[in-house]
Amino acid sequence: MVGLTNPAYPAPKMAWTDKSKPSLYYELSLIRPTERKKRMPDSKFEIIGNFHLHTYHSDGVGSHRQVAWAAAQAGLDVIVVTDHNVWVAGKEGWYTHPETGHKALLLMGEEVHDEGRSPEVNHYLCLGVDREMREYASQPQALIDAVDRCGGVGFIAHPQEQAAPLFNEPALPWVDWDVVGFAGIELWNYMSEFKNYLPSKPVAVLAAFFPSLFISGPPRATLSLWDDLMRDGQKVVAIGGADAHANVYSLGPLRRAVFPYTFLFKALNTHLLLDSPLSSELVLAKAQVLSALRTGRAFVAYDMAGDSRGFRFTATGQGASAGMGDEIPLNGPITFRVSSPLPASLRLLKDGRQVARVRGQELTYEANEPGVFRVEAYRRYRMKSRGWIFSNPIYVSTTH
Ligand SMILES: [Zn+2]
Ligand SMILES: [Zn+2]
Repeated sequence: MVGLTNPAYPAPKMAWTDKSKPSLYYELSLIRPTERKKRMPDSKFEIIGNFHLHTYHSDGVGSHRQVAWAAAQAGLDVIVVTDHNVWVAGKEGWYTHPETGHKALLLMGEEVHDEGRSPEVNHYLCLGVDREMREYASQPQALIDAVDRCGGVGFIAHPQEQAAPLFNEPALPWVDWDVVGFAGIELWNYMSEFKNYLPSKPVAVLAAFFPSLFISGPPRATLSLWDDLMRDGQKVVAIGGADAHANVYSLGPLRRAVFPYTFLFKALNTHLLLDSPLSSELVLAKAQVLSALRTGRAFVAYDMAGDSRGFRFTATGQGASAGMGDEIPLNGPITFRVSSPLPASLRLLKDGRQVARVRGQELTYEANEPGVFRVEAYRRYRMKSRGWIFSNPIYVSTTH
């Protein structure tokens, strides 16, 4: 079924609220420069995307055009709309912001969960699907397989989300872990993390006005979960998402549009590495984006803490080289290189354990064992060390 609006989420009555300067916080922020294309240290073509957001077709506020304009304004290249249990036809394509002239590609997806279940756990991001997926909502494995069959890429959303009882927000984790075949997990979800910082009303008000004093990184438990899943031998791609809604919240006399789209699109994103520039043909561009997501040629970045464009993690061995998402055979020593566009605390992990750490912009490490290698980068921002970049892994495999 192709719906225009999910009946579970009637269109909100409030006006569009995504102003370019939406908050006191925003006024005080150092927003990353709008310079669009930066010279990269390799032949990859880097684009920035956000792959978890909602419009008024479910519980968000903006229209497709408005979220695409917000993305363009924030400097993003691509977004995938993931409304709850509704897939909308005829919206894919490029949208040009009428004032700045920046454009962003909008692709269609869907965040599917079983509305007959209480609480409504098991949220699955179906990116790039070409039809409604809601009919599979009550069968997680069938849903995962259906996304695959139609050429989409599926991610388990906010896999370990906690509740926020003060706002009657239940925990919405993934619970059916016997499934197979999902492309990856949403390692870091901005709004899910924010829900963890609402223990009392005064703190909630502070967090709503100054979220970046709180946002710090993906949950440690989710990083461990990711490593555990990969230790079992499967490749698991990590993405980061805004989960943007731009909803208005009330707390006593205070009424505030929390987290406008543009704000969130300048915060937590997923950067994709392409082999060629993003095509201007919709079919080709969509294939490029989905391929990078499926293979994990990507890293998760909290861009508000520093412009992460240009971050690279590569490996070279005898006659072979690899980047994020790739596998490289252990035919001899493997040399890993991490290159950061800004000084940071760079940590190389093997199977979830730190094997090297450098403060700076370059890290080199030689490995002689198979394993799953990935990078975490932390930067000081707003008086605290915060998670900045989380790479997808390079898989070193044994040769037989
Ligand atoms: Zn969700
Ligand atoms: Zn969502």
